[in-house]
Formats: sequence, structure tokens, C-alpha cells
Amino acid sequence: MMGRMATPRLRLLALLVACALATALAATVVSASSLPSCKVADTLTAQRSYAAWSRTVLDTRYRLPSTYRPVDLRSTANAGLNGSNTVRSFVIADLRAMAAAARRAGARLAVQSAFRSYATQRSTFAYWTQVSGYAAAVRSSARAGHSEHQLGTTIDFRSYGGSAPWYYSDWGKTKAGAWLRANAWKYGFVMSYPKGKSSVTCYAYEPWHFRYVGRAKASHVRASGLTLREYLWREQSAPPPPPPTPSPTPAEPSPSSEPTPVEPSPSAATTPEPPPEASPGG
Ligand SMILES: [Zn+2]
Repeated sequence: MMGRMATPRLRLLALLVACALATALAATVVSASSLPSCKVADTLTAQRSYAAWSRTVLDTRYRLPSTYRPVDLRSTANAGLNGSNTVRSFVIADLRAMAAAARRAGARLAVQSAFRSYATQRSTFAYWTQVSGYAAAVRSSARAGHSEHQLGTTIDFRSYGGSAPWYYSDWGKTKAGAWLRANAWKYGFVMSYPKGKSSVTCYAYEPWHFRYVGRAKASHVRASGLTLREYLWREQSAPPPPPPTPSPTPAEPSPSSEPTPVEPSPSAATTPEPPPEASPGG
């Protein structure tokens, strides 16, 4: 006990030590937040605002609310691809560039499935349960709320003129599949469920399933060597940035990071939902 003996200098030192200890303790708690197991549960994911689309963790445990349905869905026809599917508006430009580059490389792509609503995913999962049983379905198809397709940023590709990619022994070895695996990151897309990683991704290998996270982040994910789920979990568990230093000058009003809500276009509104058999995938 320091009592009356403590000089102001000692009290300051004690305060500094206490602060350092508290910081170290906080850091320990954060780093202890390791990747959760692939438990089957129904926990609402932490990052679930429409603006958090590139940060949302979805797996067998974490899910979106059933009401999550972006309002800015656009037909993939706007990206020069077949048009019976939709993605969020901000995905279109990079998707268009990627589709054009793939075509130039002789690896022409088509969209098998893109946005899927909560209700569609429910019938999709029911279909695959019927076909292959619950145990197999839960490894290769997401239960309602758990699918990255509900984000409106995720696409199952196939080869142009080809059949559904899951009918190939390894679609990743086709011209289109190999091109995507090598190049999709340049356009902001990440393969969510790579080969040999199902213990950390929670789903079986899906060489056709790509989630858009933007070019900068896709490049960071690739450089990290982590799967997307590991990367996003780390990002979500990282200590928050230090609070901004108070400044007398008011900050410039920054353009909102929230995508401007736009009314669904008539084409998106009238697009029929794909039949369940046309769309498994996480
Ligand atoms: Zn998929």
C-alpha cells in the first residue's frame, strides 16, 4: 500500500502501470477469441447491417435475420452475363470487368445462382436434404439465414454453355474454374470454400462459389493465406481502433459509406426465384 508515502511521481507511475495492465488484459481477451468451431446453431451474426456486407461472418453457426434483403439488387445481365439472377448494384462493375476478362482468356463464365432470399434458401436446403440427407446437406448447403447468397454479393458460376458446376468431378479444373481460382481476386471476388479447408470454412469444397468483398480486401485476403471465414473472424475480433483525438475543427462531412438505398428495378422485382435444384451451395 502506498498511503501517505506516495509522492505524486509514484502515484503517476502506479497509474501508468495500471493502465498498461488493463490494456494487456484487454488484448489477451481479444486474442483469446479464436475461430469458433463449425457448430450447427442459429446465432445472429454480429455484422449484419447492409453496409457491413464485406465484413459479415456467415457459417453453420452465424446467420442473417430472415428479413435481410438488400434493396439494390440488379440483374447480372448488367454485367454482360446471363440475366436471371441478381446481385447488389455495387458488384456489377467489377463483375462486368471479370466476365469480360474471362471471356478474353477463353474461359467464358455464366451465372448459375446469385442472390437467394431467406425463403429461397429454405427450399434450397430442404431440396438437398431430400436428395442427400441432412448430414450431407449441412456440409454442402446452407440452412436458411446462413447462406452468403442472402448477402446479394455471392455468385455460383458455371462454364458458359456448361451444366451446373456441381455435376463435374472438379469444376475448379475446367477452363472457367481454373481461370476464376487464379484471377477472381483481382476483381474483388474470393472463393469462400477452397479445397481441403472444410474444417475451417465449415463447408465442402465449392470451386464455383465466389463472394465479392471488393478489390482491396480480396487482395488482402489472398495475401493473408487465410480462408475468408478465418479472415473475417479475425477482422471482427480485432481490437477496435483507438478513439479519435478530439479536434477543435469539425471533420469534413464524409460521403456516407452506407450504399444509397435504391428501389428495386422492375427487372429485379419480376425475376423469378431459381428452382431449388438449380442452386445448392453454402
Ligand atoms: Zn454458392
